[in-house]
Amino acid sequence: MAISELEIAAVVRVLRSGWLTTGNEVFSFEKEFADYIGGGVEAIAVNSNTAGMHLVLEAAGIGPGDEVIVPTLTFTATAEVVRYLGADVVFVDVDADTLCIDPVAIEKAVTSKTKAIMVVHYAGLAADMPSIQRIAQAHNLKVIEDAAHSFPATSGGRFVGSLDTTAAIFSFYANKTITTGEGGMIVTRDAALAKRCRVMRLHGLDRDAYARFNGNSAQWRYDVIAPGFKYNLTDIAAALGREQLRCAESLRVCRQAVAERFTAAFAKLPIRLPVHAPANEVHSWHLYPIRIPSGANICRGDFEAGLMARNIGYSVHYTPLHRMTYWNALYQLDDRSFPVASDHGDTTISLPIFSAMTDTEVEEVIDVVISITNSNANLN
Ligand SMILES: *Cc1c(COP(=O)(O)O)cnc(C)c1O
Repeated sequence: MAISELEIAAVVRVLRSGWLTTGNEVFSFEKEFADYIGGGVEAIAVNSNTAGMHLVLEAAGIGPGDEVIVPTLTFTATAEVVRYLGADVVFVDVDADTLCIDPVAIEKAVTSKTKAIMVVHYAGLAADMPSIQRIAQAHNLKVIEDAAHSFPATSGGRFVGSLDTTAAIFSFYANKTITTGEGGMIVTRDAALAKRCRVMRLHGLDRDAYARFNGNSAQWRYDVIAPGFKYNLTDIAAALGREQLRCAESLRVCRQAVAERFTAAFAKLPIRLPVHAPANEVHSWHLYPIRIPSGANICRGDFEAGLMARNIGYSVHYTPLHRMTYWNALYQLDDRSFPVASDHGDTTISLPIFSAMTDTEVEEVIDVVISITNSNANLN
């Protein structure tokens, strides 16, 4: 992660200020983040994307007996928050090109119990929002965006976060495109939902409610209107976030340049590359996942060995959730219901992509990938 002296100075300033937890830094971060996204949204800072998704589902009234549609190709947080509220997850497959939730699969999964669709903008490419919105409108469903990968990314020329959905939730976890160590941001245009999230992120405390009933707004007076959570962000984290936000676009441009170099260098190789955003749209390039087609004479293991030998970090995003013990046992799931995500889970590897990547590091990854594909191709 690119942490400069500016971030360090901002955190030190908070440490010296005498106020460490939620205060003016958080309020400024919320305002600056909302301004960045644009479109008249409101931003609510929380201590993780997972906390933010939990708050949004709670505020949206999701509960026992409800079903929420979730792509199987995601991190477990997207689905676990549904279980926090006693509702059920209905997993669906993803589109073979974009690897984002497949609108056709959504349509097939809708039942009379369906209340919401969770959308993940996988790797930082926006999902097919026009199709998803059409289905949501037809069935009166909420659309909630897990935007953990997609800051900043666009759909229809607008930033994810400013689309016509219930809410989008960003992550500032250590490896995300901007970071506060741990942190997240809910972005919404729904004032009532925002208010509920603000109350529930801090123990269900409501100063407004107390003032309303008692005609007294002395600072120490508050009412408790629900058993809330402890999901507030600290000023220390927010100070870091404000500096990261200032360079978010230059960080994104660096990742975009890495992605373009990879794509140009790998164009003729027998591997499947991640799709770029259409013209005039922004991809945040949180991940660069390649796929090694099953049936090719090379496999993921060859890439793992080659990258490991050169001490280059890599990961897999993701083993789909329907294969994980908890989800698989809970819903008796089968690969055959999710052919695209299952194949992806077997054949993908995420190459390193981050804004501080040096030319030498980029060249080294390119070199490894090309030499693995060539040497193994020569065996046959
Ligand atoms: C990182 C991530 C999360 C969780 O974010 P936290 O801020 O760590 O809670 C959720 N969904 C996806 C797709 C992620 O990549």
